[in-house]
Amino acid sequence: MRITVYSNDGSSSRQVADKLTNKLINNGFTMDAQTPEVVISVGGDGTLLSAFHRYADALDQIRFIGVHTGHLGFYTDWRDFEVDDLVVALQEDLGQSISYPLLEVKITYADTNEVQHFLALNEVTLRRYAATLRTDVYIKENFFESFRGDGLCVSTPTGSTAYGKSIGGAVLHPRLEAMQLTEIASINNRVYRTLAAPIVLPSDEWLLLRPSRTSDYVVTIDQFTFKDRPIESMQFKIAKERIQFARYRHTHFWDRVEDAFIGSKHEI
Ligand code: NAD
Repeated sequence: MRITVYSNDGSSSRQVADKLTNKLINNGFTMDAQTPEVVISVGGDGTLLSAFHRYADALDQIRFIGVHTGHLGFYTDWRDFEVDDLVVALQEDLGQSISYPLLEVKITYADTNEVQHFLALNEVTLRRYAATLRTDVYIKENFFESFRGDGLCVSTPTGSTAYGKSIGGAVLHPRLEAMQLTEIASINNRVYRTLAAPIVLPSDEWLLLRPSRTSDYVVTIDQFTFKDRPIESMQFKIAKERIQFARYRHTHFWDRVEDAFIGSKHEI
C-alpha cells in the first residue's frame, strides 16, 4: 500500500508525522507522496482540508485518514497517541471506506470570460466587505430572489458543521446527497426581500448566482481566498467526485456533533 503522511507545520504535528512515517516504513509500507493510495493528514480539520486540495485531482484513487493532534475533529478519527493502533488497522486493511459529497463551483469572470472549476469539501462563499453584496439567485433555470447583504455560503453536508453552522445553517447528516445555501446578514425590509432561511437542495438541482457588476468580491473555497475580480456568475452543484475516507472505526455522526458542540453528557 502506498501511503503519504501530510502534516501541518506545528511542531507537535511534525513530531507525530515523523513517528508515524517511521513506523509505517518499519512495517513495510511504501511512502509515496506523488501517487498515494492512502493520505494520512496529521493536524486538525484544516490540515485535512489542505490535504484534500493537494490531492483533489486523484480523489478516485485515494482514501484519506485524519489524525488529530488536539481534540477529535470532524474529518479526523484518530488521536495522536493512537498511531500504533492506526498502523495495525492499516496492516489489516480490507479496503473499507466511506465517502461523502463534495461541492463543485464553476466561476465565470466578467472581465475575461475565463471559467474556473473548483471542488470544495466544506463550503464556498461569495462576500463583499466594503459595500452590500447584490446578487440574483437562480435555482436551476428559475429566478429565485435578489439577495442583498454581506454574502452567501454554499456548503456540503460535512461542511455544514463548519462556517455554515456559525451563520445559522442546519447541520446536515453527511449521508445526505445535498448542498445548503445560507445567507450572511441579508437585508430584509420593505424594499428588499430574501427568503431569510437556509435552503437545502438535492443532487439534481443547481444554484446560480449572478452578482452585480463590480470587482471587489471575496470568494472563499474552504481555506482559500480569491479577491477582486468581477464575477459574471457562479454555478454550484454537487460534484460527481466524492471524498473517500478509510474507515477502520466508526464514530456515530450525531455523537461527533454532540461531542464537538455540546459536550455535556447528562440527561434530565
Ligand atoms: P481552522 O483550521 O482554524 O478551522 C477553523 C475551525 O473550523 C476549527 O475549529 C476547525 O476544527 C473547524 N472546522 C473546519 N472544518 C470543519 C467541519 N467540517 N466541521 C466542523 N468544524 C470544522 O481554519 P482553516 O484551516 O482556515 O479552515 C477553513 C475552514 O474553517 C473553513 O472551511 C470554514 O468552514 C471554517 N471557518 C469557520 C469560521 C466560523 O465558523 N466563523 C470562520 C473561518 C473559517
